[in-house]
Amino acid sequence: MKPAPFAYHRPDSVGEAVEALAAGDAKVLAGGQSLVPVLAMRLGRPGTLVDITALAELGRVERRGDELRVGAAVRQRRVERDPATASVPLIGRAMPFVGHRELRSRGTVCGSLAHADPAAELPAVAACLGAVVEITGSRGDREVPAAELVTGAMTTACSPDELITGVRFPTRGPGEGFGFAELARRHGDFALAGVAVRVRTSSGLVRDATLAAFGVSDRPVVRDVTDLLRDAVTEADLRPATAALAAEVVDTAGDAHGSTAYRARLLGVLAARELARAHQEALR
Ligand SMILES: Cc1cc2nc3c(=O)[nH]c(=O)nc-3n(C[C@H](O)[C@H](O)[C@H](O)COP(=O)(O)OP(=O)(O)OC[C@H]3O[C@@H](n4cnc5c(N)ncnc54)[C@H](O)[C@@H]3O)c2cc1C
Repeated sequence: MKPAPFAYHRPDSVGEAVEALAAGDAKVLAGGQSLVPVLAMRLGRPGTLVDITALAELGRVERRGDELRVGAAVRQRRVERDPATASVPLIGRAMPFVGHRELRSRGTVCGSLAHADPAAELPAVAACLGAVVEITGSRGDREVPAAELVTGAMTTACSPDELITGVRFPTRGPGEGFGFAELARRHGDFALAGVAVRVRTSSGLVRDATLAAFGVSDRPVVRDVTDLLRDAVTEADLRPATAALAAEVVDTAGDAHGSTAYRARLLGVLAARELARAHQEALR
C-alpha cells in the first residue's frame, strides 16, 4: 500500500517545528524507519509530516560534564561510531542489536524513544541508566525521566504537539559495571526478551543495581535489584531470585515466537548472567 496524502514540512528551527506541531494533525519525521512503514500500511494518516532531520540545533552529540547529550536529529549509527559513546558503555553494547546497520544509518536515538516499541533496546537502556528526555512544545520546555517516558505500547508522555529535542545519558561513574543481552529469532529482529543492567560498587560492596527488562511487557520494566545482588553475586546463585523476578514482570502475551512462560524463563537466565557479569565488571 501507499501512504495517504500528506503535506511535507521542513522547518528551519525548533520554534518553527513546534509551531507546525501545534497546528495539529502533524507527526514528527525523524529517521522514518518506523513512521514510514506505519504510513505505508495506513495505520496512521497524519495531515503533515514535520521533518526535523536538517535542524542543526538537534544534530549534536555532546559530552557535558557527567552526561552525554544526544540531539533528536542524531542517527543511531553516528552515536554507535562516536568516540564519546564510550562514556556510556550500555549504548555501545545495545546498539548493534537495534535492527540492522542500514536501519541505524537512518533511525535516530530519540525516534526510538518516541516510537516506544515494547521490544526496543534504547528505551530500556535509557530507563536503566536514569537518562533524562528533553521535550519542548508550545506550552514550554520540560524534562521527563526516561523511565517515565513510555506509558504503554507505542505510547509516551510526549504529546502529539510536542517534540523530543534530545536525551541526556549519565556517563560511567567509578565502580560501575554494565550488562546487556537479548535473544531474538534472527539478529536484527525485535527481541523475545532482553535486559540492560547497571551495578555500582564501592569498597567491594554493591551500592546499587538496576535492571531494565524489555520485550516482556508493554513498556520497559525497571527494577531496583540492589538487595537481590547483596544476597548473591554468581550467576548460579542469582538464578532463583531472577526467575522469581521474571515471573513477576513478564506479562506480555505469548505468540508464535515464544510463550509467556518461555519469555519468563529466558528473562530469568539473561538477568542472572548479566547481573553477575556487571558485578564483576564493577569490581574491576
Ligand atoms: C525491519 C526493521 C527492524 C527493526 N528492528 C528494530 C530493533 O530490533 N530494535 C529497535 O529498537 N528498533 C528496531 N526498528 C526500529 C528502528 O530502530 C527505528 O529507527 C526507530 O524505532 C524509530 O526511529 P526513527 O528515527 O526512524 O523514527 P521515525 O520512524 O521517524 O518516527 C517514529 C515515531 O516517533 C515519532 N518521533 C520521532 N522523533 C521524534 C521526536 N524527536 N519527537 C517526538 N516524536 C518523534 C514519530 O512521529 C513517529 O511516531 C526496526 C525497524 C525496522 C523497519
